[in-house]
Amino acid sequence: MEFSSKLLENAVSEMSQLPGIGKRTALRLVLHMLKQPASRTQLLADALVKMRTEVKFCKSCHNISDVDLCEICSNKSRATDTICVVEDVRDVMAIENTSSFKGIYHVLGGKISPMDGVGPHDLKIDSLINKVKQGEVKELIFALSSTMEGDTTNFYIYKQIQEYNVLTSTIARGISVGDELEYADEITLGRSIVNRIPFESSLKS
Ligand SMILES: [Zn+2]
Repeated sequence: MEFSSKLLENAVSEMSQLPGIGKRTALRLVLHMLKQPASRTQLLADALVKMRTEVKFCKSCHNISDVDLCEICSNKSRATDTICVVEDVRDVMAIENTSSFKGIYHVLGGKISPMDGVGPHDLKIDSLINKVKQGEVKELIFALSSTMEGDTTNFYIYKQIQEYNVLTSTIARGISVGDELEYADEITLGRSIVNRIPFESSLKS
């Protein structure tokens, strides 16, 4: 791509670092900004910088939050002994949208994936095991996507907590194998949490 302006080229180059944004899309977005008042770009830049510098992670569940303890964890009406284990904040949002779950979450921050160099210690697994060890947990619900990495992660956690007196379940698979949670429609996802099955029985199938 030949640019008539170094400033334009820099902006396009930075924008195209984002996932799913190629050079052409980046150029379209940048040209759109040039047609808008400069204040619009300022608002966007401010929002991004503020988000990046000030955002926090809940000290209990590791969900993205503006405060130390997220709104879900600090909500007195939620069942804090029922923990839904998810991969990232998008899964929390998807499950919250179903209004079918009244427990709390634990956000792992990814899945165990040896191919990508992600091991158990790169994820927030230890803090989950600690909650179980401290007897704070009645039930763990595994709600990771049913990919090989998701299954590996579930099984790893299951093995670590097997000796403790905690129920383990997995969301019912109205969600087909390989589907990412965030794409499941709300009704299907809501049902799959309500109709969750014991984790052991998911291993036999
Ligand atoms: Zn939290």
